[in-house]
Amino acid sequence: SIVVTGATGHLGRLVVEQLLEKVPAEQVTAVVRTPEKAADLAERGVRVAVADYNAPETFDGLFAAGDKVLLVSGNEFDKGRVQQHQVVIDAAKAAGVALLAYTSAPGSLKAALADDHRGTEEALLTSGLPYTLLRNGWYHENYTENLAPTLEHRAVVHAAGAGRLSSASRADYAAAAVAVLTGEGHENKTYELGGDQAWGFAEFAAELSRQTGEEIVYREVSVEEFQAVLTGAGLPEAFAAILAGVDASIEKGELVVDSGDLSRLTGRPTTPLAEAISAGLKG
Ligand code: NDP
Repeated sequence: SIVVTGATGHLGRLVVEQLLEKVPAEQVTAVVRTPEKAADLAERGVRVAVADYNAPETFDGLFAAGDKVLLVSGNEFDKGRVQQHQVVIDAAKAAGVALLAYTSAPGSLKAALADDHRGTEEALLTSGLPYTLLRNGWYHENYTENLAPTLEHRAVVHAAGAGRLSSASRADYAAAAVAVLTGEGHENKTYELGGDQAWGFAEFAAELSRQTGEEIVYREVSVEEFQAVLTGAGLPEAFAAILAGVDASIEKGELVVDSGDLSRLTGRPTTPLAEAISAGLKG
């Protein structure tokens, strides 16, 4: 079976959708913690397994020998994600799965956000399981899914200076995961995944201006100011600090990925940023 955790999340759902285009539904298992959210998948013939990273026993007997598993990293920053992911790794090891692929972060990323990914990679390598590290770069959608405040203030507010990043759409990263899960020869490989074209926030503002016909500028602020803007918008202090840290990393070029691994794995160019902006503007 091909098993996908986080299957009701944005990325996991795209992976399952794309898997269904390639393999029969009965060969796909969606691991979810809220089965109601996966009712549509069950209806389509996908096996739905209920498990929670915080409850190791829920993973008992979930995997079978020979399974190919995609561990989608969790989003509960305050719950110890390395320990959560270790639960999945241990269960996969006990079952003797054929492959455990993990959605990590670029090797060049030094921000605090990357610590859990480095910790999980270490746990995975220590397990001795056949692994694939999908070191996903940033999503376009991080910047295009919530454009309302930007449009309202006619300003793209960031603390990344003239730094650039190579983002791609979630669907691109999902396609890379599907290529690994359905293909051969990806054991013990590390892929540095990112968009074909790097961009900076000045270009982002220019493209937004072009598509809206409004004058939208890049307002470059300090990391401290950016963090204050985020907490002012209602983000918890700790999360605002993490995101501000990401901007500092972008300024240093830590989110530029120029390996070409993403388009090579998917066999097509990555989605242009302009396309994601256009989708974001349509809501
Ligand atoms: P989502 O937040 O949409 O999905 C996270 C998934 O993890 C959800 O399916 C969620 O389940 C599941 N999950 C969280 N905690 C647990 C738990 N305790 N037990 C079982 N499942 C759990 O994120 P995306 O799909 O957009 O991205 C996938 C991951 O990539 C994120 O979780 C995060 O680690 C990372 N990420 C990467 C970004 C990038 O730009 N590269 C940006 C943002 C996140 P449920 O559906 O029930 O909530």
